[in-house]
Amino acid sequence: MKIAICPGSFDPATYGHLDIIERAAQLFDKVIVLVMTNSEKNPLFTVDERVRLLEKCVKKKNVEIDTYKGLLVDYAKKSGAVAIVKGLRAMSDFDYEFQQALTNKSLMPELETVFLTAKNTYMFLSSSMVKEVCRLGGDISRFVPAEIHDEVTIRCKGEIKND
Ligand code: ADP
Repeated sequence: MKIAICPGSFDPATYGHLDIIERAAQLFDKVIVLVMTNSEKNPLFTVDERVRLLEKCVKKKNVEIDTYKGLLVDYAKKSGAVAIVKGLRAMSDFDYEFQQALTNKSLMPELETVFLTAKNTYMFLSSSMVKEVCRLGGDISRFVPAEIHDEVTIRCKGEIKND
């Protein structure tokens, strides 16, 4: 069984993430969406909340959601994964992702990093953009699934500081 990991912060999940997860689920027997707990400084949602939001919108049967606070290659070893799947939006993602892929390759040569190009309609979409638009009162229904729309909106609006 070929297992792949889709790692990220998912703070919160967007249609861009879901597109990559669903496409990865067509390529591999099992996909683990891994909410990493050590990368971001100031998350809007706790790790448990991010997992719950993902569970609400990921529909594929061969996709599991898990969390990890450590080196991705260690999780890959323990889960038997053969690949990491990442989405590439633009050249701006490339340098960082290339560096990460090479680092992971040197730590675990048998683990491949597979890049899927972002769907053109989601090229500009990121969790931080969703949070910014929502905080400023914009409509995020084109960016996040209906299942989590209200929860994301309430949390983002709760963040507004009147100063
Ligand atoms: P991180 O904080 O580690 O960058 P993210 O949650 O922002 O994690 O993203 C996780 C993964 O999803 C990354 O591979 C990223 O490139 C990919 N991704 C995020 N948004 C999109 C999008 N709109 N289209 C395609 N891939 C995306």
